[in-house]
Amino acid sequence: MKSSFVHRPLNSPFDDPVVFVRVLREKRAFLLDLGDISRLDPGDLQKITHVFVTHTHIDHFIGFDTLMRSLLRRDLPLCIYGPANIADCVEGKLKGYTWNLIRDYPLRMDVFSVDHDIVRHTSFCAESAFERRDEGSGRMAGFLYRDDLLTVKTIQLDHQIPCLAYSIEEVFHININKSLLKDFGLPVGPWLSDFKRAIRAGHPAETEFAVAGRRLTLGEMRRIATIAEGQKIAYVTDVSITDDNIERLVEFVRNSDTLYCEAYFLDRDIDRARTRFHLTAKITGTIARRAAVRRLVVMHFSPRYRESSETPESEAMREFMRQNA
Ligand SMILES: [Zn+2]
Ligand SMILES: [Zn+2]
Repeated sequence: MKSSFVHRPLNSPFDDPVVFVRVLREKRAFLLDLGDISRLDPGDLQKITHVFVTHTHIDHFIGFDTLMRSLLRRDLPLCIYGPANIADCVEGKLKGYTWNLIRDYPLRMDVFSVDHDIVRHTSFCAESAFERRDEGSGRMAGFLYRDDLLTVKTIQLDHQIPCLAYSIEEVFHININKSLLKDFGLPVGPWLSDFKRAIRAGHPAETEFAVAGRRLTLGEMRRIATIAEGQKIAYVTDVSITDDNIERLVEFVRNSDTLYCEAYFLDRDIDRARTRFHLTAKITGTIARRAAVRRLVVMHFSPRYRESSETPESEAMREFMRQNA
């Protein structure tokens, strides 16, 4: 089954955690966190339309300058989501430069600050030298972002400071039955994207499509499509070991096809983990197992384990694979 997006971590688990999510068949991509993104090639950088930042510790936000610089001449706005202080952090970054020569540049940034279930919208446009503009606020209605392919949800966790976890889910996945398509005498082609979009949007059965010189209705064509549950990924990092965080996380990441999660400390260093407000690898493995996650990808390891024979990955996987007693 082909999914509508693919995803990959950009860096090694000892470097900044960043996941690149590319929407297939469309020229757009998302980033989960905005740490070091120097490994992204220029073509992929240009595709980024939405960035979801967990919190603005330097290892999760230092890529802002690289991204903004590469998008200065792009017409498409950049949307940045993050915790309550994200607009202040973006403003602070922008104030670090002088902007007298960019007023004819097209870049616009829309920044969405999440404070529990309230989302505040702030914009920064090159044409006004990135002056901060308040665009109002609203209540989150179950999701943070949605388009006709994907839904992004978030929860606010504790890392001594607020820290957001994110999930990205396909609305649902539509498969085309190629042999039925052949029986209908119809070619594959770009019209199938319109057809899928119409199903997703719930268009009426009499909606017409012009295909290979014929006119067909959505109702007639509906048989060639089967609907499957879509892919879900979740991204969690920099979380304190508290019962509240862990119980809410298990529910939030439940049934993810892939969970990206920090495994900063080994469990033998749990005291250190508590004072640094991070999870241990063992706790990460437990969360993934309890949430019936299909694949666990651990990231964000403390440099202290670079030479260690026991790695956060092996500890997390051992716990993840353990059968429930
Ligand atoms: Zn971190
Ligand atoms: Zn942090």
